Amino acid sequence: MSITGDHRLLKRLNRMALVRQVRQAPGSSRADLAHSTGLTKSTVSLLSQELIDEGWLVELDLDPTIARGSGRPPTPLTLDEHRLAFIGVDIGLGAATAVATNLVGMVLMENSTPIDSADPASACRQVAGLIEALLREPELRKRTTIGIGVGVPGAVDDRTGVLRFAPNIGWKELPLRDLLRTALADGPAGSLPVYVQNDADVGALGEFEFVDRPVDEPLVFLVLGTGVGAGIVVNDRLLTGFGGFAGEIGHTILDARGPRCSCGRNGCTEAFVGLGAIVESVLGPGKARHAQDSQALLRSLPAAAFDPMRVAQDAALKAAFDRAGAYVGQLMQNLWAAFDPATIVLGGPSCEFGESLLAPARTELARYGEAAGLRPPVVKVARFGRLAQAVGAAAAVIHYQVRPLTESLLGQTAETG
Ligand SMILES: [Zn+2]
Repeated sequence: MSITGDHRLLKRLNRMALVRQVRQAPGSSRADLAHSTGLTKSTVSLLSQELIDEGWLVELDLDPTIARGSGRPPTPLTLDEHRLAFIGVDIGLGAATAVATNLVGMVLMENSTPIDSADPASACRQVAGLIEALLREPELRKRTTIGIGVGVPGAVDDRTGVLRFAPNIGWKELPLRDLLRTALADGPAGSLPVYVQNDADVGALGEFEFVDRPVDEPLVFLVLGTGVGAGIVVNDRLLTGFGGFAGEIGHTILDARGPRCSCGRNGCTEAFVGLGAIVESVLGPGKARHAQDSQALLRSLPAAAFDPMRVAQDAALKAAFDRAGAYVGQLMQNLWAAFDPATIVLGGPSCEFGESLLAPARTELARYGEAAGLRPPVVKVARFGRLAQAVGAAAAVIHYQVRPLTESLLGQTAETG
């Protein structure tokens, strides 16, 4: 690919450099943008007008009190929250959740549907129906939808859109992006770009893209659910690895003699700290043996399991969560040693247990830090809660749009304007 010879790509790089700069410094004038990006004033003028016309940027009303002298004061620009929409879909075992967000991550609407995980083509048609239902809503009809992001619980080759391996849904070497495009082809979303990515990776993008100020890196997003995985943002990019398997931390071996994991190996971290393992340690062995979606697993537990006060008073429950939490702490220690993250964000269905699980996890991480005389990374809970992966999938659209080089590598160079 010749970058210097590709004027359209160069133009998109420049346009999106302006969007990113306005996000970091809302209220920037055109002169400020020329100064901070190094583009000429006339280029900034031309491109910012395009971005205003297309709904990315908006001019703020001038404050008359700051107008001074005879010259026209500079017009501040900010991201436009009202004209664009981004769709994010979180595909799990037996169910999919879709959201539409605006440019700054506000959830405009959400919708869920059961899906037939045993038949991927049929599941993709169900996901397409979910997306099309969102697009028919009045709120989205008055906006321009830029693209569709999809998070799946498995390794994804983002150059081809092929889902390499998702042991918890039982999908392997599945051309997911092509199946979704086929399912969407004849409907209102037929012309929209589709980005498929691992669910922990999109969770990380949700925490990274929908923020007012730059996030300290590396950022690790740890999904705790039926599956356990990490999304890693480093140097402004996702770290996906050679085949899309980077961050599949749930399948690092915690104890080679441990129980069998969904992936076929023995003693994976997920076999100790996955939601199925937590449910088994609360209800007894064999109670979560069959593959179940995370919501069904959560529903199988007594209400007391979701109330940290009641867990604290129940010795058996407390022991089960202390054990699982210690494993989560061990997992965070391993992530810390591998990536030295500034922040670890915890997300996924197991976060519904709240402090019963998270407090022993933090304690364990702190213990490792004290032993080494080092300060462990900051640990936070996902901002978008149970919608973290769906909102993150919408953030993936923005991520790939504002990084056109990455997008070109993904083979999706559709013009948005
Ligand atoms: Zn495994």
